Amino acid sequence: MARSANPTSRQCQPYLEPVPPILPYPLVFSGGFGQSGRLPFTPLAIRCLITAGPTREFFDPVRFVSNPSTGKMGFAIAAAAKAAGWTVDLVSGPVALAEPAGVMLYPVVTADEMLRQTDALFGPCDVLIMTAAVSDWRPKVMHPQKLKKDGAGLTVEFEPVPDILATLAQRRRPDQLLVGFAAETENIEANALAKLDRKGIDLVAANSVAGPDGAFGNELNRLILLGRDGFRQALGPATKTVVAQQLISALATRLAAAAR
Ligand code: C5P
Repeated sequence: MARSANPTSRQCQPYLEPVPPILPYPLVFSGGFGQSGRLPFTPLAIRCLITAGPTREFFDPVRFVSNPSTGKMGFAIAAAAKAAGWTVDLVSGPVALAEPAGVMLYPVVTADEMLRQTDALFGPCDVLIMTAAVSDWRPKVMHPQKLKKDGAGLTVEFEPVPDILATLAQRRRPDQLLVGFAAETENIEANALAKLDRKGIDLVAANSVAGPDGAFGNELNRLILLGRDGFRQALGPATKTVVAQQLISALATRLAAAAR
């Protein structure tokens, strides 16, 4: 049976929502980013596409492979981008988080759905921030009925899912800013830097997912933002809300410099 017959998957309908026009930017922050409440950079009308959360890859209607991503970092970034006056599209895998106010949320389940939805929204975006912990493999076969336990083991064969970021980067415009996340358990900066070239992106936010202090599910986070041009900035350690604001400020500063 075809994978799309997955009955547990929410119906993903790309192009479902009309893409709203870019909103006029506010001259004053709605809050959060420092004492003055004023923009620390030239204001721009920016459309931002953010992915968040895990994806799920089913091998029968009730069983899947996934990862422990909670989506907190991506949702915090979406809220920070909105607070900075950006127009925000948020494509998220299954999470237990409230939709940030004023953000367009597109729920998806599988990596295929996430690819289709981000692909549909990528064209008009100025900034893509891929925080989603996409499941790297999916079962080759999706069984249409719940598999019966018969006391024997189960072998599931996996195949790679498409790399969403690399796929979108292939048709990027030079003026789009593409930011990936690198969740690493070792050699964090070296592994993250390798992703810049491999995926054709501008910036990578590296974080550690090793041990109990790792990023998955934690309230706190620390990132190292690394650029293809040698840019390096440490963000945090701080709450994901504050790290998200620092990330959006860093991106806004770059966009303002590029626009000059
Ligand atoms: O290759 P790796 O999974 O380490 O790369 C992480 C970055 O690539 C993240 O930004 C993640 O959202 C993105 N990614 C993707 N599609 C995949 C796997 C990862 O877009 N299949």
